[in-house]
Amino acid sequence: MSEPLSRAHALALDANDPLRDLRGEFLIPRHEGGEQTYFVGNSLGLQPRGAQAAVQEVMGQWATLAVEGHFTGPTQWLGYHRLVSGQLAQVVGALPSEVVAMNTLSVNLHLMMVSFYRPTAQRPVILMEAGAFPTDRHAVEAQIRFHGFDPADCLVEVQPDEAEGTISLQAIEQAIARHGARLALVLWPGVQYRTGQAFDLQAITTLARAQGANIGFDLAHSVGNLPLQLHEVAPDFAVWCHYKYLNSGPGAVAGAFIHERHHRDTTLPRFAGWWGHEEATRFQMAPQFVPSVGAEGWQLSNPPILGLAPLRASLDLFERAGMAALRDKSLALTGMLDALVQSRLPHVLERITPADSERRGCQLSLRVIGGRERGRALFEHLRAVGVLGDWREPDVIRISPTPLYNRYQDLHHFVDAVDAWARH
Ligand SMILES: *Cc1c(COP(=O)(O)O)cnc(C)c1O
Repeated sequence: MSEPLSRAHALALDANDPLRDLRGEFLIPRHEGGEQTYFVGNSLGLQPRGAQAAVQEVMGQWATLAVEGHFTGPTQWLGYHRLVSGQLAQVVGALPSEVVAMNTLSVNLHLMMVSFYRPTAQRPVILMEAGAFPTDRHAVEAQIRFHGFDPADCLVEVQPDEAEGTISLQAIEQAIARHGARLALVLWPGVQYRTGQAFDLQAITTLARAQGANIGFDLAHSVGNLPLQLHEVAPDFAVWCHYKYLNSGPGAVAGAFIHERHHRDTTLPRFAGWWGHEEATRFQMAPQFVPSVGAEGWQLSNPPILGLAPLRASLDLFERAGMAALRDKSLALTGMLDALVQSRLPHVLERITPADSERRGCQLSLRVIGGRERGRALFEHLRAVGVLGDWREPDVIRISPTPLYNRYQDLHHFVDAVDAWARH
């Protein structure tokens, strides 16, 4: 038996990894004749080899079929968005009718708030985390103003109450209880982008609904990272993007979930468009909007087919691996990274992500001891030697080993590179 934190042990784990073949399905960026060590799947996932073929297929249909491409063959564009809904539903634990790939994340967040943020004078408040991703904060503030309310009164932000800037469930519970009767909507992340903290979606949903508030999740850092059970957890809505852990390319078409209980509710306001009209009568081009039943009914436009194509290639790989197996490997990878950092780099890096694996996904957010200048120097050094993480001001490097294409030996590349720099 080799030492658990030895390179030999990491190599043995890689050799016996049941998911090891999946790495070969991705294009790994090069560095000085070798491969980069890429830990930025939380920001832009790597390109699946199948993505180019999926895009080429659409280009070919356009070339040879032109407008007939809308109606010809198994990948006809008329129902193209539906080609991904079964596999996507698997990834997020939903019914296929509850998910749709459309628009981009910020757009979907607005569209969902149009339907699920219905402020009244008695209940005007949106509750969210302080330090949310800026677009979420901007969208919430804009929605409050759009309804004629004042964010100073109607936006409640829950402050971090734990030492590393994370938020306890008790703090969320207290905030929901304190504002309960005035809460219209709770909007919460699945995984916090800066700290990497994962939240208990079921507990938060239960707390919000018990107060009569709607609940929506931003799952940008959760989808493809943690197993999700959206149908069972039963928030009103969720939104996410597909270019992070879902590997579908820069600016990829995003996703949305709308729980089944809302699918036939015609009293919900929505910003309608013709692609959300029921398919059977869409091309009768009548003036009256009749929504499709399900998440598809929230679509506006005919989708960007070229933008959707890479998602199909990525979802094939998620189906092949399965979220449960990916989570098992992710726990082992991130656990090993954590142990390596604690044992070999305690004087260089300190983790701000929770230690409890139930409260995190792939990502470890590592604060560089010694401040911003030292942190930037380390980050630039890592980039120069082909080890890619990403930087969050003022002093945090995020490292996200993803189970689809990262290896145990990659963790040693990272720790060795930091160690060599710190000794130098
Ligand atoms: C990545 C991310 C976004 C990005 O929004 P886009 O509309 O895709 O540009 C929004 N919110 C969160 C929490 C994110 O992590």
